[in-house]
Parts: sequence; structure tokens; C-alpha cells
Amino acid sequence: MTSTIKSDHVHAYGAQDAHQPLEPLAINRRQPGAHDVQIDIAYCGICHSDIHQVRSEWAGTLYPCVPGHEIVGHVTAVGSQVKDFKTGDLVGVGCIVDSCRECEECKDGLENYCDHMVGTYNGPTQDAPGHTLGGYSQRIVVDDRYVLHIRHHKDQLAAVAPLLCAGITTWSPLRHWQVGPGKKVGIVGIGGLGHMGIKLAHALGAHVVAFTTSESKRADAKALGADEVVVSKNADEMAAHQQSFDFILNTVAASHDLDAFLTLLKRDGTMTLVGVPAKAHPSPQVFNLVAKRRTLAGSMIGGIPETQEMLDFCAQHNIVADIEMIRADEINQAYERMIKGDVKYRFVMDCATL
Ligand SMILES: [Zn+2]
Ligand SMILES: [Zn+2]
Repeated sequence: MTSTIKSDHVHAYGAQDAHQPLEPLAINRRQPGAHDVQIDIAYCGICHSDIHQVRSEWAGTLYPCVPGHEIVGHVTAVGSQVKDFKTGDLVGVGCIVDSCRECEECKDGLENYCDHMVGTYNGPTQDAPGHTLGGYSQRIVVDDRYVLHIRHHKDQLAAVAPLLCAGITTWSPLRHWQVGPGKKVGIVGIGGLGHMGIKLAHALGAHVVAFTTSESKRADAKALGADEVVVSKNADEMAAHQQSFDFILNTVAASHDLDAFLTLLKRDGTMTLVGVPAKAHPSPQVFNLVAKRRTLAGSMIGGIPETQEMLDFCAQHNIVADIEMIRADEINQAYERMIKGDVKYRFVMDCATL
């Protein structure tokens, strides 16, 4: 596809096909249009979705593929119609850079459920090369409707990056199912998503129980804000929590037995899944749903207004992700470590090393 928009050369990291490691690439970014915000990227968080996309594990990946949708940086130019952002502002971009703006979902500020949502990478665009390129790059240009204000201290910027995907993916269901004081809430899985889920549910005032398969994460989960920690392989520990939860946020993307957690919900309780397993979960027992009028639900990232709400809440409560910083040329090793679960709890790329 040819672009009529003047473009600008920037350094990036990406892959040329599904079987190649990521490598340095030169990409183009459009000049900011009337409604655009040009952002020099300081840091980009590394999400599991990046690995699935770059390796075409979800099929349909367009190459070259530049992943990254946990973007933070500062504004370096704005279009003539941009009112809400100015040069120098600290800003973020998450998983969404455009949507239809007219459907029920867009009108409700839930662009994440718009059928025409444009992802920050691998989405359709007029810009070269015809699909969006993400945050493993020095610069991005995004319509102001999809840019978020960051009100944390600038020294916290790197650790804010994972809020743009891991943060909102857990915040949106916690808010939708009204987690707060007086509620007993379970967080299943203590990884990139789960560690944010624990922090956010704790800050919202709920009684938080973290579930992990590894004994070694017990102390970590407490430090993150869990009131109790359950090793889910331990049947006695699980039995002690039967029929006691108002809400369970299940962040585990691997196929597992959902009934083990559904039976922990009390009457009218809900378990929401935010991970999508490559191999389907074994079907839950319908009896476990009907017996106590329980709900099994799902949730995908979050809309732009609630992302801003989450960022402001986190700034107010001094919440950031726990991160390990990497240089751009360490990205392939970082992927291998993520696949082994060897990161506490999110890698963030220092985009100054691109
Ligand atoms: Zn993500
Ligand atoms: Zn829409």
C-alpha cells in the first residue's frame, strides 16, 4: 500500500517473519495530522501478546511485525486541532490506536469491544506498510482520542508502561464487577497480569486472596498486597475457601480445571477469565454454575476512558508495575525467559537503546 502522508524514519525492533528472531528495523512514522499526537517513546512494556503476534501463533500476522502496546513517552508535536495535549506532556498509548467511533461500544467508551478496533500493532492503517507498527520503536504518531495522560512522577515512567495493557486488563473487570470494600476477591495466577490484579484489588479495598501453583511465590504475593495466599495444588487450602468468594479474576492463559475455582464462588459470584488459552479449558461442570447461580465471564483489555481512570487511580495511590528493564537487543532472550515464567513481573524495553 502506498501512503500519501509524508513520513519520518525511526529505529525499531521487529521480525521479518514468524520464524526469525527480532532484529533492528527502520520504519516510517507519519507526520502528525490535525488530530495527531507525536510521541517520542521512552519505554515499552513487553506483553505475552507480543510473542504470540510476532510468531504468528494467532495466525494472520503481517510482516514486518513491530510489537509493543505498553507505550510511554513524551509529546514532541501535536496537530492543529489537538486541545488536550501539548509538547512535553507525559503520555501513554495502550492496545488501541483507532476504532469506528460510531458504534454502541465506541459511544460507551468501550472501544476495546468495537468490531473495528485498530490494534497498536498488526491493525489496518493508511500508513506504510499498511498495518500498524507498535512500541518497540523510537516514535509513534496516534490520534489524540487514543492517547492517555500520565500523572505519575517522571521517575516512575518505565514502571507505568505495563499499566497500559496488564493494568487495564485487570482494572476493567475489577471495576465492572464492583470490587471494593467488603468483597472477597481471588486473583488466580501471579504473573504480569496477576501481580497488577493483586495491587489494584488491594488498593480498591477488597480482601484479596492470591492463587498460585508455586510455593515460592507465597511471600511475593503478600508483598504485592494479597491478604491471603493459596497454593492451588494443595487440596486442603482450596477446601478452606469453598463458597466464599464474591469475585475471582482468573489471569491464567494455560488450559486448566475451571471447576476448582468456580466452586470457591459463593451464591451469585462471578469468575472472569482474561487469559485466552491456546488449547481450550476442559468444559466446566454446568452443575457448578446452576447450583449457586454462579457466572463464568470474560473480559478483554479496557476502553480509553477507563484506561485514563486506571492511570489516574494508580498515580493517586502510587501504584506501578514491578519491572525488569532490558535493552532492545535483549528482547529475544527476554521472550525466552517470559515463556518460562522467569520475570518479576514485566520486562520493559528502554527505547533509548534502539
Ligand atoms: Zn498486552
Ligand atoms: Zn466502534
